[in-house]
Amino acid sequence: MLKLRNVHVKYGHVHALRGISLEIQKGQIVSLLGANGAGKSTTLKMISRLVEPNQGEYIVDGTNMLKKSSSDVVKAGIIHCPENRRVFPQLTVYENLKIGAILRKDKKQINKDFDRVFTYFPRLKERLNQLAGTLSGGEQQMLAIGRSLMGNPSYLLLDEPSLGIAPLLVKEIFEIIKTINQEGTSILLVEQNAHMALQISDYSYVLENGKIALEGQSQKLKNNDRIRQLYLGA
Ligand code: ATP
Repeated sequence: MLKLRNVHVKYGHVHALRGISLEIQKGQIVSLLGANGAGKSTTLKMISRLVEPNQGEYIVDGTNMLKKSSSDVVKAGIIHCPENRRVFPQLTVYENLKIGAILRKDKKQINKDFDRVFTYFPRLKERLNQLAGTLSGGEQQMLAIGRSLMGNPSYLLLDEPSLGIAPLLVKEIFEIIKTINQEGTSILLVEQNAHMALQISDYSYVLENGKIALEGQSQKLKNNDRIRQLYLGA
């Protein structure tokens, strides 16, 4: 289980996270909803140790992750797929995927994971030698998720995988996220598309101004009046 307790993050005088607590149990998809600036990306960055909390606890399977570096976090299988895809545009698709496995030494398993990525995203296999910067937005998103899978995640942190992507492809990507989960990876999903996020997740948290304003089973939250008004356009 991945667990945050009373986490605070400040950027100078901006108090971005104000005491948030959340849990991702093994096998779950957990979604993190909220308006722009609510602190969703900061939460993921804190979990991958890219930003330092000012206060709070961060425990994964009994280990205090605040004593760990960001590369230790990756080695522990906590893999962050950042917002806006962030592929390396001047490197090929193959090189981008290889970078996802950079801290691993288990060559056999790495090759299996290449095959796994190509099963999910056959289009990447067709474009192995293409420069990532020349891929379409949707293909870059596939590459970003594929690169994360090359890190062999136990916990996958996905930041806005549907951002700027055509609706049909969004559906496809969400199907793949579900499959990745069914094959054993727990997922923390940050999404503006609350409808899709509530649809595929087991449990959801709603962040408002750096605090958890609401949480619960996603199926139940779908019918919550506040969620319907603010996030589902009802
Ligand atoms: P969005 O959906 O727009 O990406 P978010 O919910 O992911 O929003 P964060 O990016 O976590 O929100 O930002 C939370 C708050 O922290 C915002 O007020 C933002 O301006 C501020 N913030 C984020 N990064 C920094 C930074 N590096 N320096 C200063 N303030 C920052």
